[in-house]
Amino acid sequence: MSRAESARSNKTDDIPLARRSSPLRRPTKQEASFILLFSGVIATSLLVLSLSLFPGFRRSIFFLSGQAVPSSDGSLLGHYPYPEALKEDLVSVYPGLEVHRDAYKALNSMSAAASAAGIDLVLLSGYRSHDLQREIFYGRKSARNQIAIERAKVSAPPGHSEHSTGYAIDLGDATMRHTDFEVEFENTKAFRWLQKNAAKYHFVLSFPKGNLQKVSYEPWHWRYEGTVEALRQFEPANESLRNQQ
Ligand SMILES: [Zn+2]
Repeated sequence: MSRAESARSNKTDDIPLARRSSPLRRPTKQEASFILLFSGVIATSLLVLSLSLFPGFRRSIFFLSGQAVPSSDGSLLGHYPYPEALKEDLVSVYPGLEVHRDAYKALNSMSAAASAAGIDLVLLSGYRSHDLQREIFYGRKSARNQIAIERAKVSAPPGHSEHSTGYAIDLGDATMRHTDFEVEFENTKAFRWLQKNAAKYHFVLSFPKGNLQKVSYEPWHWRYEGTVEALRQFEPANESLRNQQ
């Protein structure tokens, strides 16, 4: 006890007992800032707790920030999550273009059959790493100033592209290159041939018109499902296609 304090406490002894209970002491600056900090921590914790308890509220926050929250089935903006193909499973078709070796075999047989029928298929794209998908998704997004939801209709968010499995390919018609990646590809001989024959080689059109995944119609995008492993990866997407039929 400092001298000043002991003096003050001695003074207290002089005050008659009835008046000794002094009015409420004001908190010191230090105490006040502690109380402020403490209530701030409590308020923030309550806010965080309520955000985690109400997904709807959380969704709206994510929406306002321009991001998206995965659905309960793991899909993000209509696209399902896919792992990257293992390096040793990829084969190079030409520089800069790789596909899963199982899809490659089937693609070769399919191209040969198409060729025999007078159709010249062009392989436009195959495997894409998550990094490349990130560049495509965010690059185009910022270039066209689109929000994530619009962007996802034509390009899957990173980690959610069928191309990362190595099983998905984009095809074009060598005689109609202006239809590459265009809905007009559906009017080419190549597309009509694929519609009739791709299934024989275990290729499936991933995003038909009006698909339940709500991804834009992509007549050029096909995925290979000829092995147990490939089928397993596309099970959630097939479930969605089945519900549509
Ligand atoms: Zn594609």
